[in-house]
Amino acid sequence: MTQRQSVLPFVSQENPKSEALWLEAFRTAFQAQNHTTEIISFSELSESQKQEIEVAIVANPRISDLEQLPNLKWVQSTWAGVESLARDSDKSLHIVRMVDQQLGDTMAEAVLAWTLYLHRDMPTYARQQAEQLWVEQPLIHARDRRIGILGLGALGEKAAERLSANGFSVRGWSRNGKACRGVEKVLSGEDGLRELLGQSDILVVLLPLTPETRGLLNNARLAQLPEGASLINFGRGPLLVEEDLLHQLDHGPLRHAVLDVFETEPLPASNPLWTHPGVTILPHITAPTDKPTASTAVARNIIHYWNSGELPEGVDRGAGY
Ligand code: NAP
Repeated sequence: MTQRQSVLPFVSQENPKSEALWLEAFRTAFQAQNHTTEIISFSELSESQKQEIEVAIVANPRISDLEQLPNLKWVQSTWAGVESLARDSDKSLHIVRMVDQQLGDTMAEAVLAWTLYLHRDMPTYARQQAEQLWVEQPLIHARDRRIGILGLGALGEKAAERLSANGFSVRGWSRNGKACRGVEKVLSGEDGLRELLGQSDILVVLLPLTPETRGLLNNARLAQLPEGASLINFGRGPLLVEEDLLHQLDHGPLRHAVLDVFETEPLPASNPLWTHPGVTILPHITAPTDKPTASTAVARNIIHYWNSGELPEGVDRGAGY
């Protein structure tokens, strides 16, 4: 059993209303696991409390706030994507990202919904309606629609399972190329990526943003997609080069892109993606963290650490995710 700190801080850049809701959700989750822990906002910590903090709950925290906690050993993030934290925080800090069954289910549902949107040609029929065109598009069966998923982690694997359960033919790409439920073939490396891109009618991007994946989907790689392919980016905006995406929509094989994440969020009004007919814009809503289930995961990890001294699995600081 490790030494229990007297308070557990939440270090975030949430607005006061959202922060209060999170604090309430954390308190409920700790109580439900029979733990009475005082959970407070970082701004309420006294100077002496700052000295004793070993573990904190974070949501996109300011690094300058974390630097005020000299004995901080590890942080539990409520976010699944922790690229800024992994990039900017002290390299000795252990970062535990959010892995939550509900988050995976929500993302898998969104991937299925937007895959079906593209698979059943909804963007084409919407354009035809605007022009009062009565034109039947060829029907392609799900088993003949090749889906490629970049990133087969907690979210990608669930998405793959949901797609294959709906009859799609699914291939995937990951760093280690390990076999994965719902995926017919898992590829890795640059050659694997080329093979996957060349055979993906719909490409689903669920990679984390790391130094290796930033700008991965550029002109050269997008041009490898089959003619008429579509893309869904639910990972992070900078995984793809927006300018190159527009070029491939206008002059390359890409027909449509569904984007939930962007280089700059909110997407600036001047960004040409807003008005491109081949682009569907979503305001980063595909898989929001669910406060009750995420708080339960947070409480489980921290209580386990207090009881056993064991740190939950964390981000590989070398790989950046
Ligand atoms: P994860 O469990 O860490 O999985 C990441 C996957 O990407 C793994 O399969 C990993 O390969 C693969 N990968 C990483 N770097 C790679 C590289 N250089 N080359 C090939 N494959 C690579 O992450 P997750 O929980 O699935 O989440 C993925 C991302 O989704 C998050 O980082 C976040 O940015 C984003 N996200 C978006 C939303 C939204 O609302 N839009 C919500 C939540 C999360 P290995 O299997 O070999 O490790």
